[in-house]
Amino acid sequence: MSDPASPGAASAVAQPAAERLIGRIRQDLITRQRFLLTSHARPDGDSIGSQLAMAFALEALGKKVRIVNADRPPEHYSGFPGVDRIEIASDVPADAEADAVIVMECSDLSRTGVRGFEGRYIINIDHHGGNRMYGDVNWFDESAAACGEMVFDVIGALGVPLTREIATHIYLAILTDTGSFHHSNITPRTFDICRQTVEAGVNPAAMARRIFDSNSFGKLKLIGSLLDSMELLDEGRLAVLYLDDAMLESCGCTHNDTEGLINLPLTAREIQAVVFFRVDAGDAVRVSLRSKYDVDVRLVASAFGGGGHKNAAGFTVTGPLTQIRGAILDRLVAAVAQGLQTRPTA
Ligand code: 5GP
Ligand code: MN
Repeated sequence: MSDPASPGAASAVAQPAAERLIGRIRQDLITRQRFLLTSHARPDGDSIGSQLAMAFALEALGKKVRIVNADRPPEHYSGFPGVDRIEIASDVPADAEADAVIVMECSDLSRTGVRGFEGRYIINIDHHGGNRMYGDVNWFDESAAACGEMVFDVIGALGVPLTREIATHIYLAILTDTGSFHHSNITPRTFDICRQTVEAGVNPAAMARRIFDSNSFGKLKLIGSLLDSMELLDEGRLAVLYLDDAMLESCGCTHNDTEGLINLPLTAREIQAVVFFRVDAGDAVRVSLRSKYDVDVRLVASAFGGGGHKNAAGFTVTGPLTQIRGAILDRLVAAVAQGLQTRPTA
């Protein structure tokens, strides 16, 4: 991830390696014909946008493309071009023949939640810290604000024109993965890519309305009960949210209605970090973390076997939450104290 104080320095060092890798990926995409595209389970805007931008670009070159994901896209993405062609499966379909698998947005192959990619020719394109380099080609750039920025570069290298469909998905990836331009890994390049997508026909106001202002009434109710039960720790600097199936059901919601809820507490000036515990049926607890400025929640997630970015990270806990909750909160309080020492001014 780039430091907001020195974005130029980070990209200057990474550049020659990136050019080599983009060239290698370009070569693979040109010489191979059939592609399987995938991304992480519980898809978000970056995973959907990156995959579909790549799919449209490959098809512009006459390639065969299938997209296989573990989970359905959240409802508010259903109207975006090509979203309904994403196949949902926990195993790679038996008839899915491919010359290469392009895995986007996954620090580890298991993040796809789909079995059967192992042993195939894999192109790994990702911007998450701690990527495991599981591919035959691995392009990993932590300084990218979204995986969609990297996909944009690949599409440019292929010489495919930025159609409105492709531009829409690149913009979707960037808008959502920057937390609608809140996160600290945004660079001039981010805006340069967005400028080009707008020139290609993207309407930023319409995109923002479709993505962020498409809540159901049930979701508004859910926001109410979630904030009602919010706990504040560390003199209001840390917010704790908790959600279980009973709360979802009582509001007529599903897990697909939970995207973005974690960001709500950060709209309070004092709150520097949020932890969101999501308890599903069974033992697993999903823990999502968000923060402002230099409060590094990726380090906290890494300590519990997860990952992500400085301002947005997550991990899964198996076993009773009561046993590990204290340790998670202690680390978060420490991360907030550390981050506040270097808080930049706007
Ligand atoms: P979310 O809270 O939206 O699930 O995830 C926030 C960020 O952290 C995303 O960039 C996501 O890819 C990353 N992340 C979430 N959970 C995990 C995890 O279990 N392992 C890793 N490596 N990254 C995660
Ligand atoms: Mn991403």
